[in-house]
Amino acid sequence: MRFIDLHCHSTASDGSDDPAELVRKAVDTGIVALAVTDHDTIAGLDEAQRNTAGTKLELIRGCEISARGEGSGEMHILGLWIPRNHPNLKAFERVLRDLRDCRAARNQIMVERLRKLGCSLSYDEVLAEAGGESVGRPHIAGVLLRKGYAKSIREVFARYLGSKGSAYEPKKVLQPEEAVELLLSVGATAAIAHPRLIKASDAWLETTIIRLKACGLSALEAYHSEYSEVDVRFCMGLAVKQNLALCGGSDYHGRLKPDIALGTGRGGLRVPESLLEQLKQQRREQGLPV
Ligand code: AMP
Ligand code: FE
Ligand code: FE
Ligand code: ZN
Repeated sequence: MRFIDLHCHSTASDGSDDPAELVRKAVDTGIVALAVTDHDTIAGLDEAQRNTAGTKLELIRGCEISARGEGSGEMHILGLWIPRNHPNLKAFERVLRDLRDCRAARNQIMVERLRKLGCSLSYDEVLAEAGGESVGRPHIAGVLLRKGYAKSIREVFARYLGSKGSAYEPKKVLQPEEAVELLLSVGATAAIAHPRLIKASDAWLETTIIRLKACGLSALEAYHSEYSEVDVRFCMGLAVKQNLALCGGSDYHGRLKPDIALGTGRGGLRVPESLLEQLKQQRREQGLPV
C-alpha cells in the first residue's frame, strides 16, 4: 500500500522546515504525495514544487485558512489544489494578505501584553523568529522559550498564548463560508481541517458542515496526528452521512511540534493513497484540474 500526507507547515508559516526540506523528508519517508498547507499563505508552494522535480513525489499545492468556529472559537479550512494561475488568484492573495495583516496587528497586541507582564521581547524579535510571511503565536512562543520565560511550548501556551493565557488576543478571521467561497473562487478543493480538534459541539459541527456544503465544501480531514481510532471512525461516519470525501495528514510543524513526524505523525499515522484518488475523482466530476 502507498501513503500520502495532505497537511503540513513550512517556514512560510509556523513550520520549522523550509519547503525544500519538507520535500526531502517526504521523499525519505516514502510517501507518494505531499500537500504543503501553510496558515494564510501560499508563499512556500513554488519552492516546494521546484524541489519535487526528479523525484516521484506529487506535490499538492495547499493552504490552511483560519475561520470563525463556535462562539469565539476557531476552525481551520484546508484548501487543496491552489492553482498557479487563475483569473481570481490576485484577489485570493489579497485576502490572504489582509489576514496576515490582521495577524501582525494581533501579534503586536500580544507582545505588548507580554511586555506588561514583565517579559522582555520585541516584535522585531518575533519577526526574526518567523522568517516567513505568515507570523503566529508559535513564533512568539519561540522567542519566549529562547529567553527562558517557559520550559516548553506547551507551558507558553498554557501561561501566556493559549485562549486562556494572560497575553491572549483573539485573531480576526473569516467566516467559514467566506473561507470556503474564497477557495472555490480559485478552483481549489475545500476541506474542514481536524474537525475533531474544533472546540465545538457535535451539533454545531454538523450544522456547520451542512451550511458549508452549500458553499462548496468537499471533504473532511479524517486522519490526523492528534486523532484516536475513535476520532477517525467519527469523521468517516460523518463524511458518509454528509456525502463528503476524506482527506488526512500529519499537520507536521517540525521542531515546533517535535513529537509529530511528516507522514507518520506520532508513529501510527498512515493516510492511504486511495483518499487522494477519490479527491481527484471528485475534482474531475466537478470539471476541475488535478
Ligand atoms: P495562530 O495562528 O497565531 O493563532 O497560532 C496557532 C498555531 O499555534 C496553531 O496552528 C499551532 O501550530 C500552534 N498551537 C496552538 N496551540 C498550541 C499548543 N498548545 N502547543 C503548541 N502549539 C500550539
Ligand atoms: Fe500551526
Ligand atoms: Fe489547523
Ligand atoms: Zn495545520
